[in-house]
Amino acid sequence: CLIQRKKLKYAVIKWAMSTHRVFRTHISSPTNYTVKCVETGCPGNVHGHVPKYDIHWVVTIIVPHNCVRKNLLVKHPNLTSSLIAQLMYT
Ligand SMILES: [Zn+2]
Repeated sequence: CLIQRKKLKYAVIKWAMSTHRVFRTHISSPTNYTVKCVETGCPGNVHGHVPKYDIHWVVTIIVPHNCVRKNLLVKHPNLTSSLIAQLMYT
């Protein structure tokens, strides 16, 4: 799918929240964006990049988690107040 960088980040955060997992940004450059699950040994990750001569992001890798889902993750560390505001507008 073709999306903008900002939308890619929101999509990733929505994904993290919906799966009740926490990720950390692994690569965040102008043309590459990769996040990985914080759990050691879990292959869960999402990767997006901008192809040469293109301006839109392409999500190329979505690896599902094999880690145990954490219950009662009330305050998601990846969710900031500005992102909450953005999510509410979209
Ligand atoms: Zn995981």
